[in-house]
Amino acid sequence: MDLTSLSLHELQRKFRSGEACPRDAIEALEARIVQVEPKTKALLHRNLENALRLADQTDVSLPLGGLPIAIKDAIHVEGDPCTCASKMLTRYKAPYDATVISRLKAAGAIPFTRTNMDEFAMGSSTENSAIQPTHNPWDLSRIPGGSSGGSAAAVAAREAFAALGSDTGGSIRQPAAFCGCVGLKPTYGRVSRYGLVAFASSLDQIGPLARSTRDCAMVLNAIAGKDPKDSTSLDLPAEDFTKDLDLGMKGLRIGIPKEYFVEGIDPQVQAAGEAAIRQCQELGAEVAEVSLPHTQYAVGVYYILATAEASANLARFDGVRYGNRASHPKNLLDHYQRSREEGFGSEVKRRIILGTYMLSSGYYDAYYLRAQKVRTLIRDDFNKAFQCVDALICPTSPDVAFRLGERTDDPLRMYLADIFTIATNLAGICGISIPGGFATVDGSRLPIGIQFLGNSLEETKLLRIANAYESASGWVSQLAPI
Ligand code: GLN
Repeated sequence: MDLTSLSLHELQRKFRSGEACPRDAIEALEARIVQVEPKTKALLHRNLENALRLADQTDVSLPLGGLPIAIKDAIHVEGDPCTCASKMLTRYKAPYDATVISRLKAAGAIPFTRTNMDEFAMGSSTENSAIQPTHNPWDLSRIPGGSSGGSAAAVAAREAFAALGSDTGGSIRQPAAFCGCVGLKPTYGRVSRYGLVAFASSLDQIGPLARSTRDCAMVLNAIAGKDPKDSTSLDLPAEDFTKDLDLGMKGLRIGIPKEYFVEGIDPQVQAAGEAAIRQCQELGAEVAEVSLPHTQYAVGVYYILATAEASANLARFDGVRYGNRASHPKNLLDHYQRSREEGFGSEVKRRIILGTYMLSSGYYDAYYLRAQKVRTLIRDDFNKAFQCVDALICPTSPDVAFRLGERTDDPLRMYLADIFTIATNLAGICGISIPGGFATVDGSRLPIGIQFLGNSLEETKLLRIANAYESASGWVSQLAPI
């Protein structure tokens, strides 16, 4: 029996019936990794011995007892490297567990393997990793999406059953879409960010990538909740996010944001979006057009605010407290300059420069402050829409996975393709990407992602809608040909 193609909840059933044990699962993953990792390059490091030790100790009756979860390399796991795929942090080891990791461990899960990413989570293709580019398991000449591209590729290539990613402007949902997985970005504040290396603190949120909506709900159950170590985490009563999964879509209202179905979308993605809308209608949902009039400003606002926050967050990597330290500096300034010059890649530098400019005196009001005001308008658009509908539907990305190298010289083109995912983060609401069919491009069959967006703190309803679509459409069960 090949365990690696099971979903988390199927694997859990096998553990509990005694048909398999956690050690079998880790060993099956390791064998699979040895076989496919040279092709995907989804992983950065792993500690097999430690994982096997945890597997032998775990109690499978715990909520995630014995289930291995891969972790994006921006999240601290005590004793493991945590490089953010940057030269800056090549030698850094996590001195403590992120709150999501201590919660996963308390639920019995086994953090196994660290996944590749765009350096400091800046990017949409995982090509900005300073260590290696990751390849899409559906077509190895293509990118897996980003920035959590290693997490998505690992799940799609069956090197992991599920993974954690982080989503600042789409970095869980877009790679999930490109690799044919399910990816959930929770509401801002739902999950503690303590121990996640910060990119843009008002936008960052950790969430799961997995092979089903149910698996995402199970992981969210374990990682959600107030954390005194993250003042932006919300103090809410515990919720079981799996409880409404099977209630279907009947009677719910799904909104189609008209600004998200415009020119410039790949025709095959557009057709899949339209098919998904029809599917929702067949499932008994009422479908209505809604408007998010400030959508056109979302990319501009995001790239002002995210870079401004990044320039502040990345100031800590000065070669003194953290990170790469230049050898034989001539003086203090030379020390800072060369430590940062050598440690950061070009996309990270571009963003630090942009963000520093946005925050500099004379430009702050014109850019940063104005972007904050437009952010409020974007949030208001969603507030209005959610007065009439339970969730929104749209494609996750206007494209499918492109070829490695195709867009590396054109950062603006790369930024513009984030149009369907970034407003979610600006508004702080939750969103999920579900496999929604395939496009055929140059003979390759490439996954298309359908995105549902839910109002703040309405994950339970969002997951219910996503699960209804997932079960009826059946796309999720397809395996990458690797
Ligand atoms: N692609 C977006 C960016 O480059 C989103 C990244 C993310 O969500 N971490 O910033």
